[in-house]
Amino acid sequence: MRAGINTDTAHGAVVPPVYLSTTYAFDGFDRPGEYDYSRAGNPTRSVLATAIAELEGGAGAVVTASGMAAVTVPVLALLPPGGTLLAPFDCYGGSWRLFDALERTGRLKLRLADFSDLEGASADIAAGADLVWLETPSNPLLRITDLAAISSAAHAAGALVAVDNTFATPVVQRPLTLGADVVVHSATKYLNGHSDVVSGAIIAAEADQVSELAWWANTLGVTGGALDAYLTLRGLRTLHLRMAAAQRNAAAVVELLVAHPAVRAVHYPGLAEHPQHDLAVRQQDGFGAIVTFDVGTGAAVRTLVEGLVTFCLAESLGGVESLVSHPATMTHAAMPPEVRAAAGITDGMLRLSLGVEDPDDLVADLRAGLDRALAAR
Ligand SMILES: *Cc1c(COP(=O)(O)O)cnc(C)c1O
Repeated sequence: MRAGINTDTAHGAVVPPVYLSTTYAFDGFDRPGEYDYSRAGNPTRSVLATAIAELEGGAGAVVTASGMAAVTVPVLALLPPGGTLLAPFDCYGGSWRLFDALERTGRLKLRLADFSDLEGASADIAAGADLVWLETPSNPLLRITDLAAISSAAHAAGALVAVDNTFATPVVQRPLTLGADVVVHSATKYLNGHSDVVSGAIIAAEADQVSELAWWANTLGVTGGALDAYLTLRGLRTLHLRMAAAQRNAAAVVELLVAHPAVRAVHYPGLAEHPQHDLAVRQQDGFGAIVTFDVGTGAAVRTLVEGLVTFCLAESLGGVESLVSHPATMTHAAMPPEVRAAAGITDGMLRLSLGVEDPDDLVADLRAGLDRALAAR
């Protein structure tokens, strides 16, 4: 909340100003100031980076132009040429597309693992990996990975660990404190939280890794813009409030879903029936605000979503507004059907991103949709 507040030495501005300048005058011949060119460094971006690094408990952070830029940089920077990347079989569709493309063009070896199965995943790590990529809770089934156990198995095998912490946010989970080396975010989601900025962040536990990642981000030209950083910082100030409201709404919606006869399955780590509920209790401060459920068929999905008024049918997540998405035709459409099926994604599955609306409005809207789906069966 307090990042950069009341630090302006020129005019005492309480909110740090946005620096749009692309270039900065040298103090004198051969004497650059702290900033010289905004791709390499920008004061507005620095305030945001410091705030995110503090929230994640890292040595520093690099703010990127998108979440995918934040995924790309560590893979390029930390993986040796031809190295092995071990990634979740159910990882974010865009990350899977990048990893798959890098493998198909001979730049790395990709192996996929089910990290919710600790024994199986540990064997996969021991079989050889240079970088272990984790996402927990996973998308869209909200499977949980034991970050401490997987991190120590990876380190024992000489591998580094990167965690995509987009779904949980540092409010719910801080992977660096559990042994991970690097955390990445799509700041497009919860960190900004208002669905009006595409942005990303990379946080590292060690200062020399932060420098290495910053060097790559500048060299590739994928650092974030100043206005985006300004807006993201404004959004970040209410992250704790938004997460509390969104998690309250998730709990209210889950209560409806588990009781409604139109619903075949509910995936939410807060449920005692969730296969890794105990791990989620141990590892997380809360269960997040993404809820996935299954209504059986694509036809039921259509009947349900057409008519919702407080949920928008849209990709993305983590904004103040509630969204509903159909993974099979939207977020995970880039995955071949067999890969999607192996990841457990069905045609009857819907993913909700709960916003901060009044819970009664959300529950009433969803109940009406479920009733419609049941009547049309
Ligand atoms: C959205 C998302 C990304 C990609 O981020 P962009 O900002 O869209 O580039 C990466 N990982 C996860 C888990 C995401 O949800």
